[in-house]
Formats: sequence, C-alpha cells, structure tokens
Amino acid sequence: HAKKQGRNQFHFHTDNQERELERTYQIELEIHEALERNEFSLVYQPLINLRTNKIVGVESLLRWDNRLLGRISPAEFIPILEETGLIIPVGKWILQSVSIQMKSWQEQGLFLQRVSVNVSPIQFQDPYFVADLKKILHKAEVDPSYLELEITEGTLLDIDDSAKKLHDLQDLGVKVSIDDFGTGYSSLSYLKQLPIDTLKIDKSFIDDLDRDGKIIVNTIISMGKNLQFRVIAEGIENSDQFKYLKQQQCHEGQGYFFSRPVESDKIEELYYSLQ
Ligand code: C2E
Ligand code: MG
Ligand code: MG
Ligand code: MG
Repeated sequence: HAKKQGRNQFHFHTDNQERELERTYQIELEIHEALERNEFSLVYQPLINLRTNKIVGVESLLRWDNRLLGRISPAEFIPILEETGLIIPVGKWILQSVSIQMKSWQEQGLFLQRVSVNVSPIQFQDPYFVADLKKILHKAEVDPSYLELEITEGTLLDIDDSAKKLHDLQDLGVKVSIDDFGTGYSSLSYLKQLPIDTLKIDKSFIDDLDRDGKIIVNTIISMGKNLQFRVIAEGIENSDQFKYLKQQQCHEGQGYFFSRPVESDKIEELYYSLQ
C-alpha cells in the first residue's frame, strides 16, 4: 500500500503527519468491511417550519461506528468512501435504509413533507444512479415526491450533463436541494434554469449573522424566495439566529437550537411532542 510504504520510506514526516497517515490507512482497511459488519447507521435531523415551529421534514445523516476506531465523523470518512468508490454501494444502502424508514413513518401516520438524503458527486455521476433509485423507491413502496436529494453547487458544475440528470430525477418525481448554498460559484439565475426545489443556506453565513452576515443572508432569502425556491437555513444554534431568520421569513431552519441529528425513534418522540 502506497501510504504504508510512504510511512516507512520517507523520513521527513513529522510524528503528527505519520499518525495521520496511519489513521487514514487504518480507516481505509476497516471501511471495506464496514457495510458487511453492519457498522453504518443513520440519524435524522429535523427541518423546522419557522412560521409554525413544526417538524416538516428530516435530513438523514450517515454514522459509522467501527469496531476498532470507534465513531468516525463523516467529514473524515466520506472522502475515503469517495476515493475508494465504496460510496456507490454505501450510497445505495443509505437510499434503501431511508426508503424503508420513510415507509415505516408513513404507516405510523407520521407525516413528513420531505426526507432528504445527501448525495456525493460520485454517486450523482454514476450512470445507473437514477435507475437504481427508481428501483429502490418502488421496492419500498415510497412515493418519490417525499424524497429530496441534497447535492452541492460543485456537483452541478463538475458533472457533464448535470442538467439531464436533474431532469431525469424530476421525471422520477424526487426533489433536489442545493446543500451548503453560497459556498460555491453558481448564480441563482443559473440554478433557476434547472429543476431545483430548495436552497440550504450554508451554516457559515448563519454563524456570521451577529457580525456582517445579515446582508448576504437577507439577499439569499429574498432572491431565493422571489425565484420560487424553498429556502432553509442550516446550523441554527441560538434563539437570536432563529428569531432573525423567522423575521426575514426564511421558510425553514435546521440546527442544534431545535435538535441535533437523532435516531429514528427519537424523531417519532419529537414529532408527536411538537405537533
Ligand atoms: P451537511 O449535509 O451540510 O450536513 C449538515 C452537517 O451539519 C451535519 O454534520 C450536521 O450534524 C451538522 N449540523 C447540523 N446542525 C448543526 C448546528 O447547529 N451546529 C453545528 N456545528 N453543526 C450542525 P455531519 O452529520 O457530521 O455531516 C457532515 C457532512 O458529511 C454533511 O454535511 C454531508 O456533506 C456529509 N454527509 C453526512 N451524511 C452523508 C450521507 O449519508 N451521504 C453523503 N454523501 N454525505 C453525507
Ligand atoms: Mg446536507
Ligand atoms: Mg450543508
Ligand atoms: Mg456539507
């Protein structure tokens, strides 16, 4: 393995760099078996309507608890899933698991307008992505219109024919949101030409609300709304941010102020306590 050899051959690495390489190497070894070992799970974070304070949807977020390394954050392991191509089978597992969960909630009478799933650029560009998704939804007997896929601006700009992919998804009936909106280089007028439903304002802009971030946030909300996007603020951590975004009539919010990502049964508790 290249990194293992590197560790032995190159003596200019600092101890820190060596430890990092060793960890990456261990993660790479372990992640190949993670799906078979049942080490992945999903948590769900509520999306709150800022006018009614009700849960209108959830975002699914992947978790990995490894037998040797313990819990590893998605920021660390998602890039490794992407580099190894494992994001394709793991991505399918995520879509299957979320679909089964959606069906279960629906049968319990727990009504969510949207369940969103993050999709990596590698998954999005897979030629079988839409066909596989269609099969998964059909098998789980889930109405596609309750599923929303989260992609980033980068995904749209990097991938040839991303417009065709988006139209195929629109034909299937699933919704699409732009995650971390504002951190890339796509203009709202460009996004408006595509079948996109939702903009999720990146947490960094919400963090800046108490400094000079208000103008950017106001602009995204008002332009986004005028262009008929649903606008969601990510990473709301305190009541000042909540009140401000509510006052600006941002449609929805998500963040630790409402709830951290939680297991599915906790979503059921929260849902019934907030309705
Ligand atoms: P994201 O899609 O932008 O997800 C939001 C992240 O912000 C989540 O981190 C969530 O736990 C965190 N978050 C939510 N509210 C707050 C808040 O108020 N304060 C703070 N500090 N953080 C908040 P998480 O779960 O660690 O995921 C990180 C990123 O990893 C995600 O960013 C997404 O890009 C990726 N990811 C997570 N799950 C999946 C997945 O199933 N598939 C793919 N392809 N990527 C995923
Ligand atoms: Mg997301
Ligand atoms: Mg985000
Ligand atoms: Mg992100």
